[in-house]
Amino acid sequence: MQIPEKMLAMVLEEQEKPLIVKKVPVPEPNPEQILIRVNACGVCRTDLHIVDGELSEPKLPLIPGHEIVGKVVKVGDNVKNFSVGERVGVPWLGYTDGDCRFCLRDQENLCDNALFTGYTIDGGYAEYTIADHRYCFKIHDSYEDVEAAPLLCAGLIGYRSYRMVKKDMNRIGIYGFGAAAHIIAQIAIYEDKQIYAFTRPDDTKAQEFACSLGAVWAGSSTEPPPEKLDAAIIFAPVGSLVPAALKAIDKGGSVVCGGIHMSDIPSFPYNILWEERVIRSVTNLTRQDGDGLMEIAPKVPVKTEVQTFPLKQANEALDYLRQGKVEGAVVLTMADSSS
Ligand SMILES: [Zn+2]
Ligand SMILES: [Zn+2]
Repeated sequence: MQIPEKMLAMVLEEQEKPLIVKKVPVPEPNPEQILIRVNACGVCRTDLHIVDGELSEPKLPLIPGHEIVGKVVKVGDNVKNFSVGERVGVPWLGYTDGDCRFCLRDQENLCDNALFTGYTIDGGYAEYTIADHRYCFKIHDSYEDVEAAPLLCAGLIGYRSYRMVKKDMNRIGIYGFGAAAHIIAQIAIYEDKQIYAFTRPDDTKAQEFACSLGAVWAGSSTEPPPEKLDAAIIFAPVGSLVPAALKAIDKGGSVVCGGIHMSDIPSFPYNILWEERVIRSVTNLTRQDGDGLMEIAPKVPVKTEVQTFPLKQANEALDYLRQGKVEGAVVLTMADSSS
């Protein structure tokens, strides 16, 4: 395959400004990297936090995007597990040092020197990207490129959040029924859990969507569930949902915050935490999470609901997500972007 010298990319030059369409050089892989022709790249809420300036340390200029699916077009000298022509998925975790105290105790998601795709290294809002092969995943044949893209972050972070809920906890509340929620609700229901979906008060569309996937109850995040929950997972970046979720869970239950950013959590009385309720966050992912998700997703089988935008309309796609009206996930496609 002929690899061009330049490629189209959507570039963030300054936070709180729209992305800019640019022609930039196609990157060259180092010995541990693969060069990928991007076919689809999911648009994640984290991208919004980066563009909107709520996450303060992106490399600039930056090509965002960390839910990448594409084809390998070139491999570095040390790459053994991917070959040219193979399909590949690239997630948020782009590199770890392997020897800091977090890596050494199996918490590579917390690595002191981690690099993140589409944040501290360039990502997939482009026709090509490079990625360290050790952090990439194979994509099951049953998924189209655009369907697989949301698995690589929404799916992965959702899966890690879900796995933080103890195995024998069956009544699980999900606050914010977007990309991550729609994926893990399917996995949870496959594992015989009952899903209670909480949405914005007037969002009957999202409530219907949750029920169509098998949720036993869907309602407003301002109302209590019909019975006490064992656990709650919060994906919406809204701090006031933490005390709301604490009130919704039973003794010994846990509230898992799955987002990378959240508005301030208001103070709350100790008695809603008392009786061994737990609040915890989930940060990044490990490769083990990825292997776990990629194994279970085709078994369920997880179906992703996607709305696609061409690469050049990345700003429109981000806006669409910002408005919170997405059913499922937003994905950029590169097929018709060649110029
Ligand atoms: Zn480390
Ligand atoms: Zn993400």
